[in-house]
Amino acid sequence: MITIQVDGRSLDVEAGTSLLHALEDAGVEVPHQCDDRRLAPAGVCRLCTVELAGVTHPVTSCTTPVSAGMVVRTRSPALDQHRALHERMLAQRPPDDATLKDDSHPYLSVDMSRCVACLRCVRICADVQGQFVWHTEGRGAELRVVLDHGQRLLDSSCVSCGACADTCPTGAIVDKTRLRLGAATHVTRTTCPYCGTGCEMDVGARDGQLVSSTPALDSPVNKGHLCVKGRYAFEFVHDRERITEPMLRDARGWRRVTWDEALDFVAQELLRLRQEHGPDSVGVLGSARATNEDNYVTQKLARLALGTNNVDCCARVCHGPTAAAMSTMLGTGAATNSYADIERTRLMLVCGANPTESHPIVGARIKQAARHGAELIVIDPRRTELARLARFHLRLRAGSNVPLLHALAHVIVNEGLVNREFIAERVTDLAAFQQFIATFSPEATATLTGVEPELVRAAARAYAQAGPAMIFHGLGVTEHTQGTEGVECLVNLALLTGNFGKPGSGVNPLRGQNNVQGAAHMGCEPSHLTGYADLTTAAPKFAAVWGAELPPHAGLNMLRMVDAAGDGRLRGLIAVGYDVGLTNPDMNHTLAALERLELLVVQDLFMTATARASANVFLPACSSFEKDGTFMTSERRVQRVRRALDPIGNSRPDWQIVCSLAARLGHAREFAFESAEQIWEEVRRVWPAGAGISYRRLERGGLQWPCPTDDHPGTPILHLNGFAKQPRAALALVPYVPTTERTDQQFPMTLITGRSLYQFNAGTMTMHTPNRQLRPQDLLEVCAEDAAALGLPHGSPVRIVSRWGEATLPLQVTDRVSRGEVFATFHTLKAQLNRVTSPHRDRVVDSPEYKVTAVRLEAARPLP
Ligand code: SF4
Repeated sequence: MITIQVDGRSLDVEAGTSLLHALEDAGVEVPHQCDDRRLAPAGVCRLCTVELAGVTHPVTSCTTPVSAGMVVRTRSPALDQHRALHERMLAQRPPDDATLKDDSHPYLSVDMSRCVACLRCVRICADVQGQFVWHTEGRGAELRVVLDHGQRLLDSSCVSCGACADTCPTGAIVDKTRLRLGAATHVTRTTCPYCGTGCEMDVGARDGQLVSSTPALDSPVNKGHLCVKGRYAFEFVHDRERITEPMLRDARGWRRVTWDEALDFVAQELLRLRQEHGPDSVGVLGSARATNEDNYVTQKLARLALGTNNVDCCARVCHGPTAAAMSTMLGTGAATNSYADIERTRLMLVCGANPTESHPIVGARIKQAARHGAELIVIDPRRTELARLARFHLRLRAGSNVPLLHALAHVIVNEGLVNREFIAERVTDLAAFQQFIATFSPEATATLTGVEPELVRAAARAYAQAGPAMIFHGLGVTEHTQGTEGVECLVNLALLTGNFGKPGSGVNPLRGQNNVQGAAHMGCEPSHLTGYADLTTAAPKFAAVWGAELPPHAGLNMLRMVDAAGDGRLRGLIAVGYDVGLTNPDMNHTLAALERLELLVVQDLFMTATARASANVFLPACSSFEKDGTFMTSERRVQRVRRALDPIGNSRPDWQIVCSLAARLGHAREFAFESAEQIWEEVRRVWPAGAGISYRRLERGGLQWPCPTDDHPGTPILHLNGFAKQPRAALALVPYVPTTERTDQQFPMTLITGRSLYQFNAGTMTMHTPNRQLRPQDLLEVCAEDAAALGLPHGSPVRIVSRWGEATLPLQVTDRVSRGEVFATFHTLKAQLNRVTSPHRDRVVDSPEYKVTAVRLEAARPLP
């Protein structure tokens, strides 16, 4: 702290802040219009001008740093005159002209007649989102804020993050929800229900309805920023199609029932199946959209109340390979570093991930780091937004991660770029690795990968020599038959170059859904208990806390549960917040298998594809806006989820539904939880690395595990001095076993599937929001050459036929995909893209190979 004099009194202020912020924090009012703490000061409006002793001209306080002994005057006749002049200048707005109004966007209303050219929208779009949608035109009094292209916001490159509306001080750009639904009367801090970034937001409610969502300014995760999903896609909560009453289905169809009737029926059926066919005839799926507390009781239900380890979650279809590879090699199957390291690293290697669409706030931070000088390497078959910005884009053939990553390691080893000191202290098996990697030179692997050897060499040198270098990876690495092996190759690169245990380094999976890290970590996993504890060795400890023995043998994972349903071994399934039918690959097989179940319970917000097709019970859960709990982000941060609304209709929090069912199965005592916090207290007893994380502490912000004690500050960076279970890690000698999914004359192209910015996974939530208008349907991306060769014009309906099934999508001609490869999203019930994807699975953990399916394209009849 330093001391300054303001208007004749002494103030202690934070050193290093701007004078304006120091004055504001001390309660001294100074008018200003162009300041926003998320942005560098600009001194545009000049309203915050003050006088400083020893300085002849007034200065803008926003651009002036505080210094010890500074003598400041905030009011004087000269300052009043100066501010009045600038206020008049700012008030000289363009005339109230209808051409300056734009209502095209579903979420944002623009009325540039209200603009005072403070340029906050221009600056926040450039310096936070990195999108450069808003520009200036003209000078002085003629200065205007305009779009990058087009007359309407919808025609511009806007990504609908709403940052411009959030910062605009005059209402020139404003949220339509505010105009339509009114201002909030009650605001609650919670965590975004969409991707695994884990942005914190302040959710506004009015008369029992959500009306706004704005970014938490003090969140270390999103630093006052949100993407379109967190900022606007909340209206699914009140959608008319939401199911808020329990339902049973019989031969006459669905009928509304009471909670007692629904839960009694489910309990009776589960007891019958267990008695007739044994405990392993049933299975339970937890949910990445549900809280840690929901998932903890869900796996406890399976193990304790049903007596089976047949419990899994959607981590199986995304980062199961990451957890397996990283826990085997490093002892912990989670991100080694934090988002804060993006601003500390010298190089980012983004492999098989498209963060600007799938994890937009991480994507925006990566873009800003690249703007400020960090190097960027992108390994991806598609030319993503980050690939366009990258110094190196290694545009490999889909399915060739392992040979390409080995080629990078080959260069690092053979050109002497390994970190010898780090290897001597913390890595084993270098000699064997050196021998193993010898055959994977960039030249030897070029035919497989399609990447120029010189490009591989240059990228390898950059990664090894940059200084701290950070790897991010996504489902483009994991969703392959060699998913686990691909992650092992990434860990090898970081081990070889000493990129563990320091700021700006590590291997960092970008987890798909908001709580997919937490769902698996709470024990919705057939061979692991809470804390990713090994089932066999940790079972006695859990038995002591639960007061009951656990089933001894590992259960079936989700893919194998579906197989078992198909051949009659599994007869009952409870699916909490997961649309198995629409999400799993090889949909024809999945739906046929689910059809054979005697009991299928879907616990969700909407009548999902799974529920429509085969469920006989629907239990209405409430959204995360209607309950308390915690989520766990991609960077291992546990954060609070807080109830902003009462549950809609007769819906209930997942944990309450699960506990009510467990009570009917004879386990009322073990599930006698009265709040989410009580469940969390039990989690703390069985999970040593989370024992120090209490709700009381979380009131002050999220904590990153390991956090073993009440006074532990949490762990932003793992493996500082050794690895989790041993001081040294072994390099993995990963064989390359190509997928059996091959292109041939009949199926000559490779289909890659993935997500888009405006929709989220099976679309359960986003398809019930105005995001529908921003991306109404799934699309098939095809390059211009292939589209021309096949005679398929842009926008035409195309049949995508694989060995496993077919789907029809509109074609989009784009340069994002290479010749011979096509890309499609999988969000909509209408498209049912997973009828096309194959049954092939990761060789270690069974995660599906969504990223490589051989297909052919044919003209289709126009879509209805
Ligand atoms: Fe939500 Fe992810 Fe967007 Fe953040 S980046 S607002 S967590 S969807």
